Amino acid sequence: MRSYFDENISKTYANDPLLMRVYTSRLLGKSKDLVLHGGGNTSVKIDDTIYVKGSGWDLSTIKKEGFAPVKTDALLDMAKVEKLSDSQMVMEQKAAMIDKNAPNPSIEAILHAVIPYKYVDHTHADAVVTITNTPDAKEYLRQIYGDSVLIIEYIMPGFPLAKAVYERTKNLDFDQIEGIVLLNHGVFTFDDSAKRSYEKMISLVSKAEDFLQKNAPIEFNDKKNPTVNIDNLANEVSRLRGERVFPKEIATSAAHEFSRLENIREILHKGPLTPEHVIRTKAFAMLWQSDFKEDLENFVKEYKEYFNTYAKDEIMLDPAPRWCVIKNRGVVVFGTNEKENSILSDIISHTMVAILRTQKFASWKSLSKKDIFEMEYWELEQAKLKK
Ligand code: ZN
Repeated sequence: MRSYFDENISKTYANDPLLMRVYTSRLLGKSKDLVLHGGGNTSVKIDDTIYVKGSGWDLSTIKKEGFAPVKTDALLDMAKVEKLSDSQMVMEQKAAMIDKNAPNPSIEAILHAVIPYKYVDHTHADAVVTITNTPDAKEYLRQIYGDSVLIIEYIMPGFPLAKAVYERTKNLDFDQIEGIVLLNHGVFTFDDSAKRSYEKMISLVSKAEDFLQKNAPIEFNDKKNPTVNIDNLANEVSRLRGERVFPKEIATSAAHEFSRLENIREILHKGPLTPEHVIRTKAFAMLWQSDFKEDLENFVKEYKEYFNTYAKDEIMLDPAPRWCVIKNRGVVVFGTNEKENSILSDIISHTMVAILRTQKFASWKSLSKKDIFEMEYWELEQAKLKK
């Protein structure tokens, strides 16, 4: 992975830290191997205000007005309290904003405030999450990074994650580390220079890519899959969804290879590439093995069981699969429009490559069903879909 930072272009922003923030945020957003569809977030601290990526903005197209200005001290005070509900967090963050017309700050705003540097960059880099979605992730991370990164075990994003990082770092000399790796989630880098923070991200991700290149080399071509008739299945899925879906095949050799994995059934239940994906993909995919009607019924049954196991007072979302693996044939997504299909295709394509790589040196293990449920049914995540 290479740096796209251009000294000449960046000179124009030298006296405007927020514009500089826009510039390197877009550099991160340029690479789908770093962030996908609204994933990741960035911030800059200017005087006593922190400008955090607004919820619903995409790093690849962000503008100045996409950043929410919040009083840094107010966020830091929030990191110090013992407990904070989602609604309290959203309310207090809003109250601490200095421009009430700005978008709501990212759910990771408190965490950005806790990191004591001007620029903070956060991505869900494929290479890093691939390695952290394995049972012995910590060992690999030590091999790759030594002691240069702080490793944080998976914890629910939002206040719990910010609190955990605050507790782990309050006595830490940040200058001793290059970044923070969040297991099953992503990576943070930071610096008082926008360029250095961005390039630390590129450097950490490149190291993870080198590890994968060595331990899990993989090559795909664009070979088309043999096509199966998915119209009848799509009709049934539309019925469950309560809205017409337009099936789209992911016609790549990676999808074909993925559908041929011997342990595919087990893998499909071992969690997403990064937590926020589950609001789009649902907790797991449908597996079409023989009779599609039976296999779909089986998906619905498993989805209801999963819901009933973890639900407290939530209302069940529709039990329609968002994607389906057709055993030994390929993979299809079920969006209700072109846009949803393209988001699903991107997320699932990146997920399949990550999973295929882990099969070469380890095995796939991401979030537990309980953690997946908390994300899928988290109101702050569901709110993103309504935007
Ligand atoms: Zn994240």
